[in-house]
Amino acid sequence: MVEDIRNLTLQELEKNFQAQGVAPYRARQVYAWLYKKGIEDFSLMTNLPQDVKALLGKYYAIFSPAVEKVLTSSDLTQKFLLRLKDGTLIESVSIPASSRLTVCLSTQVGCRYCCAFCASGRLGFRRHLEVSEILGQFLTVAKNVPDGRISNVVFMGVGEPLDNYDHLLRAIRILNDENGVRLGARKMTVSTCGLSNRIVSLSREGLQLELSVSLHAATNEKRSQLLPVNKRFPLETLMPALRLYAQATKRKITFEYVLLRGFNTTVEDAQALVALIRGLNARVNLIPYNSADSRLGFEPPVKLEVLFFKSYLEKHGVDVTLRMPRGADIAAACGQLVWKTADSRCTNY
Ligand code: SAH
Repeated sequence: MVEDIRNLTLQELEKNFQAQGVAPYRARQVYAWLYKKGIEDFSLMTNLPQDVKALLGKYYAIFSPAVEKVLTSSDLTQKFLLRLKDGTLIESVSIPASSRLTVCLSTQVGCRYCCAFCASGRLGFRRHLEVSEILGQFLTVAKNVPDGRISNVVFMGVGEPLDNYDHLLRAIRILNDENGVRLGARKMTVSTCGLSNRIVSLSREGLQLELSVSLHAATNEKRSQLLPVNKRFPLETLMPALRLYAQATKRKITFEYVLLRGFNTTVEDAQALVALIRGLNARVNLIPYNSADSRLGFEPPVKLEVLFFKSYLEKHGVDVTLRMPRGADIAAACGQLVWKTADSRCTNY
């Protein structure tokens, strides 16, 4: 099968072109069509000579995801259910906020990490997304939002981004490339359930990516109940990896902490969290659980729990923000929409 051209970095395309007798600057022109103009048809790349267009058509293709469904929330968050070339479904979300437009991208079809409260794990793991499929989401959302200007990307959709490390990094480099989308590394956030070894690798990439860690509990005992991955990478390996990342990139680490009613909102939970992150350049993002699907057995926190937890952290000098769930009415949390259309079980991690 012909390869999707959006799997290739600019350097690879230049190399291929050179081998095929095409001047390398043509690769930059193709890139501009693909990523600056969002063109999905080689025949529309009008500054390319006919023979280059023919060569592109012979060796490459562009498989854009088909928009299966778009749901718009009352807060203008939009969820895109996208169908890939093999028929599988993935989700992307666009989240407008004053001067920003953030898009949340998926990195895998399903997920193998089975976090207890997350719908994505229930999808089971099907496969990694290709580079072109990660980028295809970005470009498809860009085409479908009012002025097309996406200011931020968060890899927080379905899947574990660091489990699909190579494709993720290639997609990031293409988004970052000045000939591509030209999105600053600081405008991209990678969210992870805590794959310590990959966090160490990421610290060596020379990219100032924002890193978000789904913590959700600050003791191994509780965290392992929520995130089975904590048994493999307990806090003793996660925290040093994060210190290394913060040091290497000079970025603040964000800890995501989903507040689950009666589970991780006690004074002991707050104390453990304060102690765990002391001395690290970090912020905590509290997220009331989004329970659009009751099958997972958790409930959103009551208001008092949220207020208590937040003020405890503040009093102890933690940089804390409270993120109100966006798009709750359209099942915008991770994997919820796909899960509504499927009904598979969590494959044990
Ligand atoms: N695998 C990555 C990215 C995908 S999940 C990770 O674990 O970070 C993105 C974020 O959404 C994570 O912080 C996850 O814990 C959170 N999340 C999943 N389901 C949620 C829900 N129902 N309500 C609130 N947050 C949820």
